[in-house]
Amino acid sequence: MTRIEVNLEKKPSTSYEIYIGQNILDRMGLVITKKNWASRYIIITDSNVSPLHGDRVQAALKEMGLKVDQIDFPAGEASKNIQTIFSIIHRMIEVGADRTSALIALGGGVVGDITGFVASIYMRGIPYIQVPTTLLAQVDSSIGGKTAIDLPQGKNILGTFHQPKGVFIDLAFLKTLPPREFGNGLAEIVKCGIIDDPELLSLLEKEAEAIRNQDMILLEKIIARTCRIKKGIVEIDEMETGLRRILNFGHTIGHAIEAESGYSISHGEAVSVGMVAAANISDRLKYLPSEDRERIRSLIRMIGLTDRIPPTLSTDGVSSRIKRDKKKEGDIVRFVLLKKIGVPFVNGGVPEALVRETIEALKK
Ligand code: ADP
Ligand code: ZN
Repeated sequence: MTRIEVNLEKKPSTSYEIYIGQNILDRMGLVITKKNWASRYIIITDSNVSPLHGDRVQAALKEMGLKVDQIDFPAGEASKNIQTIFSIIHRMIEVGADRTSALIALGGGVVGDITGFVASIYMRGIPYIQVPTTLLAQVDSSIGGKTAIDLPQGKNILGTFHQPKGVFIDLAFLKTLPPREFGNGLAEIVKCGIIDDPELLSLLEKEAEAIRNQDMILLEKIIARTCRIKKGIVEIDEMETGLRRILNFGHTIGHAIEAESGYSISHGEAVSVGMVAAANISDRLKYLPSEDRERIRSLIRMIGLTDRIPPTLSTDGVSSRIKRDKKKEGDIVRFVLLKKIGVPFVNGGVPEALVRETIEALKK
């Protein structure tokens, strides 16, 4: 089992550990018991993860004599709303949760966002633990303490920063994960390699096939490396006021493509083409050598991700969504571009015509 410590503000009270390994539920039970974070634990999970993994997680905790309850909600992004929050909170009150209780987020990013949000507001805040079950949540959303729910007006409009007490990443969960969900996580791993870790990028290139075949030993190594990158960035910029923005590499165009497709294009697919687009723009503006641009595109294909969007997707639509992006400050859309692999920077001066041309090129 790999252990990574996250140190926020260099104070022990805001530090926590990420535990990564295969079949680590027993050890998770031991750690939770030893740390003694709460008098009782409530697992929050969704209707897909509950039948697959709920019993095993409950059993591992009960084995240690811990008091455990579980609350399920319907799987899917559509659940990330205030009604779900109220219904979870009502159930918590029913089972008698108080300020000495802690939550356990068992699931993907949706479960993590919802659970973190509830934990941050229930009785002015209670502890929670992340047990991410998608590759995306394992390398991305479970680390960093961002929580959120959607409103009809937009995604992630209500949210808080609330750091978990610990993150337990068990690779065994990935065995039941649909391939498309796997790709969502892979795209963020490639992103971390591109923006911060040329060695990780070389490893991904060398082992692309083994990764596609979900070689667990290799995956553990790659997940650990990606978590280290993410935690390093979060440590420096917990509240996302500066450096943390580089994690948006591939996401400005990616989010717009995802939304314009009505979410028929997955986050991983959208971020993959978004990264190809950002690399193209970086090259066209004479920052990034074209070999590096080509290297990024070819890795994305090799690893089973995509560098294309359907020709039917409207360039006007994507372009106007980029302008509406929440990163817009004044009249400027800020893109994360590259000077070389491992050296990203934020640029506010990308001409709209170049953005449109780049989107068009993704259709060929
Ligand atoms: P993410 O943002 O991490 O992709 P979601 O919470 O939207 O997260 O999860 C994606 C989908 O995968 C959901 O339908 C969820 O129920 C399902 N899911 C999560 N973990 C697993 C797993 N280990 N096995 C199978 N399905 C899973
Ligand atoms: Zn992302």
